[in-house]
Amino acid sequence: HRTGRRVYEAEHDRNTPRRLALIGELDQAINRRDLLVVFQPKLDPVTGLVTGAEALARWHHNEQGFIPPDQFIPLAEHSGLIRPLTLHVLEVALRRCASWRRSGRDLSVAVNLSPNSLMDTNLPDIVARLLGQTGVPASALTLEITESSIMADPTGSLRTLERLNTLGVKLAIDDFGTGYSSLGRLRELPIHEVKIDKSFVQRISVDHRDRAVVRSAVQLGHALDLEVVAEGVEDGETMAHLTKEGCNIVQGYYVSRPLPADEFLAWLTEREAQ
Ligand code: C2E
Ligand code: CA
Ligand code: CA
Ligand code: CA
Repeated sequence: HRTGRRVYEAEHDRNTPRRLALIGELDQAINRRDLLVVFQPKLDPVTGLVTGAEALARWHHNEQGFIPPDQFIPLAEHSGLIRPLTLHVLEVALRRCASWRRSGRDLSVAVNLSPNSLMDTNLPDIVARLLGQTGVPASALTLEITESSIMADPTGSLRTLERLNTLGVKLAIDDFGTGYSSLGRLRELPIHEVKIDKSFVQRISVDHRDRAVVRSAVQLGHALDLEVVAEGVEDGETMAHLTKEGCNIVQGYYVSRPLPADEFLAWLTEREAQ
């Protein structure tokens, strides 16, 4: 029922005092650089080489402790804070990536873009500036975008994606399989990578249907000349299946949890010593 639904949404999005306070605190956290960025390794399962890491935002709130991104990202999106948040994560991620590369490691970094970011026509210029400032080559930056955020504004998104593509930045479709984009649409986008959603990946060693879905996704990705990444890999059996199916890159707790930058470097160094 229409009216009922509208009332519900108004209630849902209402700026309660708690919500307003949180928005203010998130704003401060971004400005004071209290928003942390952790890094989860991406691994080529055939060579065993680490190819890079995905940057994930973390907010440690003074009183409430750790607030998960699934809660503060939507808050940031609805309050206009997503732009500074994205820029902060981008900047931290690129600085770290620059330092890994200075130490002789050929690593890339991936940063998540929220739906609204694709509507920000300044984004490509900002990305270009940050690449210039940090000295990271454009090809070492991947921007992860969900299918649904592209579908929210296909024409506007395509323009932003094309400008990013022109810079040489790599573009990935995140949570692949959970949206409804047509195959034709996928073929038109200037993307380089698909990330198969963890909801399909996690049960492939116990559910033959999930395995069939993952197999089709890998084949589709390869048919379109895309790199295929699987997220949410939690055990060795799943990783073995994915390797057999031809998945190019794996990511998940089995390889490593997302780590603070210094722990990521220690983790890398230890692997390299083996
Ligand atoms: P995502 O981009 O799909 O990121 C993958 C999520 O899966 C991360 O959750 C990661 O910690 C988690 N994960 C990784 N490996 C495993 C595994 O083996 N098993 C399971 N069960 N989970 C695994 P996280 O860090 O809580 O982030 C949740 C979502 O919040 C992300 O989903 C992304 O959509 C969003 N997010 C996080 N950081 C940012 C950011 O800087 N900007 C934007 N726009 N969104 C972000
Ligand atoms: Ca992601
Ligand atoms: Ca994902
Ligand atoms: Ca996700």
